[in-house]
Amino acid sequence: MSVLEVTGLTVDFRQRGAPPLRAVDHVSFALEAGKTLALVGESGSGKSTVVRAVAQLAKPAAGTIVLDGRAAGRRGRALRAYRHKVALVFQDPFASLNPIHTVRHHLVRPLSLRPGAPRGAALEEEVRELLRSVNLTPPEEVAGKHPHELSGGQRQRVAIARALATDPDVLLADEPVSMLDVSIRLEILNLLDRLKRDRNLALLYVTHDLATARHFSAEIMVMYRGEIVERGPSDEVILRPAHPYTQLLAAAAPEPGASRSTLAAARQARRASQAARQAARAAGAGRIAEQREAAAGAGCRFRGRCPHAMEICATRPPDATVGPAHRALCWLHDPAAAGAAPSELAG
Ligand code: SF4
Repeated sequence: MSVLEVTGLTVDFRQRGAPPLRAVDHVSFALEAGKTLALVGESGSGKSTVVRAVAQLAKPAAGTIVLDGRAAGRRGRALRAYRHKVALVFQDPFASLNPIHTVRHHLVRPLSLRPGAPRGAALEEEVRELLRSVNLTPPEEVAGKHPHELSGGQRQRVAIARALATDPDVLLADEPVSMLDVSIRLEILNLLDRLKRDRNLALLYVTHDLATARHFSAEIMVMYRGEIVERGPSDEVILRPAHPYTQLLAAAAPEPGASRSTLAAARQARRASQAARQAARAAGAGRIAEQREAAAGAGCRFRGRCPHAMEICATRPPDATVGPAHRALCWLHDPAAAGAAPSELAG
């Protein structure tokens, strides 16, 4: 059963002297207890804006968020209650902790916000228990330290402990390991995975790394310029990517289990996309112009980079079912469109 349901989430950024830029366009998904959903895409695709909007740090232009069957509170006590249940782990463990406060201080504050918050010795024991749960030991020693006395991995463990202090049902992890040393990334991801199971958390894992998305998630959504262009079971999306954009991402980080034909198609897609991009640049079709065009609803927003673009891609937005629970916004998988215009295949 879904803990958090997001429907039609849309976020616009105001621009001086120009129409608003649509950063997130009608994104819908559901998070289930004890499961991880990965949100994958390049920088600038809108992933972090989705997280900020779901955490109610950015105001959506449209859409609904339902937590445990109730519409998310948007202000006052209802908003505070929502934030207790929907916690956030930021990307940068160096910026997310206050350098003048001890680890204990970072944990005591959210602990004391809980209904029936512990006090005195019980509060101190809760601090120690939180530190133990993220493998920061001995907890008495760690609690008295300041952020500058900790490594990047230890700081991110403190940030995770702080997120858990309000006893949330949902954890939004926004690129939680991208700023850490490669050597400790796996440890932190394993920690998040264990905490998800132990606490029955619904976890949204935001990343640009397809390999960890596959390993730690049951389902993957791929985002491109504010839109979910592909979604489905993790193995399906990674080993048999259906959307040319996902194929590009897969080509950048090939999976050991991917088939030869998938890898070859991914390499070809990457080369063709680079050529299409250069051609678009030469023609003066910049990113902002493309985004505005896409915001106006004119067809597939990946067509400027797509090696398979057809005429129909410029005029109508695609949507196709690739397999059970696997969808891709691509005309290539629409039998009617592919049959009607096979000669229009380009690249
Ligand atoms: Fe490429 Fe057309 Fe598919 Fe978009 S809809 S990804 S342009 S083939």
